[in-house]
Amino acid sequence: MKSFSEKVLVWFDQHGRKDLPWQHNINPYRVWVSEIMLQQTQVKTVIPYFDKFMQSFPNVQALANADQDTVLKHWSGLGYYARARNMHKAAKTVCDDFSGVFPDNLEAMQSLSGVGRSTAAAVLSISSNHKEAILDGNVKRVLSRVFAVDGWPGKSDVHKKLWVLAEQTTPDTRNADYTQAIMDLGATLCTRSKPRCADCPLQQDCLAFRQGNQTDYPGKKPKKVMPEKYTVMLILKNKQQEVFMQKRPPVGIWGGLWCFPQFENIAFAKEWLDNNYDKSLNQATELTKLKHTFSHFHLHIQPLIVEVKTPINKGVMEHDDTLWYNITTEFNGGLAAPVQTLLNTVKRNKRKTKMTRMVNCIKLGKEAEGLDMLTYPGELGQKIFDGISKEAWQSWVNHQTMLMNEYRLSPINPKDRKFLEEEMEKFLLGDGPSAVDNFVPE
Ligand code: SF4
Repeated sequence: MKSFSEKVLVWFDQHGRKDLPWQHNINPYRVWVSEIMLQQTQVKTVIPYFDKFMQSFPNVQALANADQDTVLKHWSGLGYYARARNMHKAAKTVCDDFSGVFPDNLEAMQSLSGVGRSTAAAVLSISSNHKEAILDGNVKRVLSRVFAVDGWPGKSDVHKKLWVLAEQTTPDTRNADYTQAIMDLGATLCTRSKPRCADCPLQQDCLAFRQGNQTDYPGKKPKKVMPEKYTVMLILKNKQQEVFMQKRPPVGIWGGLWCFPQFENIAFAKEWLDNNYDKSLNQATELTKLKHTFSHFHLHIQPLIVEVKTPINKGVMEHDDTLWYNITTEFNGGLAAPVQTLLNTVKRNKRKTKMTRMVNCIKLGKEAEGLDMLTYPGELGQKIFDGISKEAWQSWVNHQTMLMNEYRLSPINPKDRKFLEEEMEKFLLGDGPSAVDNFVPE
């Protein structure tokens, strides 16, 4: 009878993924980068990040020599930024303490920042075919189902039990393939909510399959109510399309990333604004609130945008950790996810402002904000678009509704439609709606 690992390897030979970017030109550096990126992130998300990362930092020396902002910029959007900061630190350690060569044993590998036992084992196994057992999230799921291991894997006794099983099931030969295979099986077959047991080579051995309760494993993390925290982000924007950014301290939440000034509450934001600008918070516009969830709390963000003149202290404040960023250019640094969202909003608002057309509106007899798109097909529509404001268009729409209700007009009746078109032309481009008085419906 085939062993656990033999079945997994037979399946891998036929169905496993063998063409992922990090499965080419295999070396410890490439495997290590892919393993860190793949923590809590899906393969298809990681691929473009990995490719770009390798173009910019093709080896550990290039990564060690890069500045942190550049590294974080390559990580922007992947989340869990501590991974990127740790990688950067680990690359320096490899260069400074290991002469630029990744260590070849588990203990030394685990001494690198951000490298735990399973990651260290995966790097050694995949890059050098060392016999090492791994236990990432996918493997935990497979093992806990096959062996019906009760309890949440975050609990130390459950974790220990799973490590023992991981060691017992790891083969002496083809270790690199097995490591890829068991991770692959967890990611593609033994998925969290809909395991494809019919295609699984471990079906006969799988206790959870036999019990019919696959999704009860692994045991869930005991629910705890996450604290809710609140913050105010102040987006200062000047007429030159620049926004004021501050770099976060290197450790802690969003460490080393660029953010807007943040305050515990509105009162502190007001005080800061009073002290630094001749502006009051009443002149700020509230943007839609955001909620960002960290692993241990929810953060509710109230963004406020304030138009300011170039600040009096612009020259003084532009240290390494503050800057005025021109939103029409690319940002060179790492951005926290909600800050990226807010920057996109500010950019969209800018585009909207730019699209606003001022027109000489006949109806209102003044310059007014014009329509953003053709309102009506054909020449008449173009004429309306060129000369009419949004306000005038809206008043026509209201007037048209009144006409249709009052005279029981139907836009699919050609006579009614013709009448409405003529009325529209008079209302918007001519002398106003008085001609309607002469209309006698049939
Ligand atoms: S039989 Fe189903 S639950 Fe068991 S390991 Fe295979 S896919 Fe997972």
